Amino acid sequence: MKILFAAAEIFPFAKSGGLADMAYALPRALSSALGHETTAVMPLYAFIDRNKYQIQSLHRPLTLSFGGNPYNVELYGCRYRDLDLIFLYHPILCDRPHLYGPPGRAYPDNDLRFAIFSHALVALLQEGSFDLLHLNDWHCALAALLAKEARIETLIVYTIHNLAYQGVFPAESLERCGIGREHFRMEELEFYGQVNWMKAGIYWTDAITTVSPSYAREILTPEFGCGLEGFLRSHRKKLRGILNGIDYEIFDPSSDPALPSVYDSQKLRGKAQCKAAYLREIGMSEYEDLPLVIFIGRFVEQKGIHWIAEAMEKIAALPLSLAILGDGSESFDRHLARRVRCAANVHLAFGYDESLSHRMYAAADFLLMPSTFEACGLNQMIAMRYGTIPVVHRVGGLRDTVHPPGSGVCGEGIGFDGHGPGAVVAALQTALGLYRDDARFGTLRRFDMGCDFSIERCAREYQRLYISLEDVRHRSSVHRKRQSSSWIE
Ligand code: ADP
Repeated sequence: MKILFAAAEIFPFAKSGGLADMAYALPRALSSALGHETTAVMPLYAFIDRNKYQIQSLHRPLTLSFGGNPYNVELYGCRYRDLDLIFLYHPILCDRPHLYGPPGRAYPDNDLRFAIFSHALVALLQEGSFDLLHLNDWHCALAALLAKEARIETLIVYTIHNLAYQGVFPAESLERCGIGREHFRMEELEFYGQVNWMKAGIYWTDAITTVSPSYAREILTPEFGCGLEGFLRSHRKKLRGILNGIDYEIFDPSSDPALPSVYDSQKLRGKAQCKAAYLREIGMSEYEDLPLVIFIGRFVEQKGIHWIAEAMEKIAALPLSLAILGDGSESFDRHLARRVRCAANVHLAFGYDESLSHRMYAAADFLLMPSTFEACGLNQMIAMRYGTIPVVHRVGGLRDTVHPPGSGVCGEGIGFDGHGPGAVVAALQTALGLYRDDARFGTLRRFDMGCDFSIERCAREYQRLYISLEDVRHRSSVHRKRQSSSWIE
């Protein structure tokens, strides 16, 4: 099939989280492992190094016109490790220091920025003969509506990576984004008097996926549906959960260039060396004999970081060390730094650092992921690949990937059901117990390293979905033809 795969962020060009990982790994697997002609498309943000990736200008620009204004979108392209990419450049969309806004905030014109992206995607569809357009998250959801409005026949799949971010804007935004007022109704875009882009993705696409089977069920409930549970329930026939995966070439402890020592499940000595080197790096070598727990992620409530902050005094009293990497709003960062100051065994690093994150996955004994909700979560899969045991709140994709030790189901670790700082401390105590049992801990480590959370498995499921959509379309067109010919007879 000829597939156009669109996302606002794609690794390694721009990344704020798991969307970027998946938006690189899935199209790459669809083309290199499964032979589909796949092109990934994203904005060419100003911070992307065009020379480093040999990004070249492609012929003429796309000329768009909507909301009473013309927009000339320049096209660029490159091939990065078996993946063909198209980049879209318009100054309004791209000339910003951050993807969506400074930490904890959003740019006020994100509607216009991503409307340019969405209109440009539809212009690309009109030019190329794509069989399928795969859209991700709210940033490009309007493209579904625009494509159907332009009577483009291409099949459209829409993937929800995180229902908490829906692209909600004031009603006045419709006009400047080039969306007709007739779509401002509850069954389509209207959402409590505002415009909700995610609703366009849900309403106008042939199939909706989310990134784990459990999250697909959870988002139909008021607890996890973020106000869209009723809307999603009315489209549930199109909805399915397909578990994400990770790129096993990028996340590979036996060849990872970011690590001071490489290792695999048969030779774990390199992992101990990674731990020693990392503890030296952060000035905490005295904790080498104790278990090292890590937390990597955005400092937002979703990730349960507020529970960790509240539990800090109790964590300080446990025989372990904890290393935290990430950032959030200025006020939360300050709050967390204050809490960490009283805990000698806790190290806090602010910022986004890909290479450091790899060193931490390799160094750690446990990954703490007390998310209040989690669509899929990649950290726990990456951790297991690096022989680091996940300690997770059993929600969404964490429930689907982390099973009790000894269960024999792919992905084992510590799962907890309770809420709040107390539940986090109790889970860490369970981890300590496991760590004390050398033989059991080593077996678990090796078992997790052998589990298959590869993107190829995920890509095969998407392939099945794409083919089933093509079949349905083919059958219905045959049916239509038969009906019209029997009418002519
Ligand atoms: P999210 O909800 O943020 O998308 P996921 O678990 O799906 O969470 O994916 C997170 C991805 O981002 C993982 O690859 C993780 O290692 C990476 N990541 C998150 N925060 C940081 C950070 N501060 N530095 C480096 N990598 C990070």
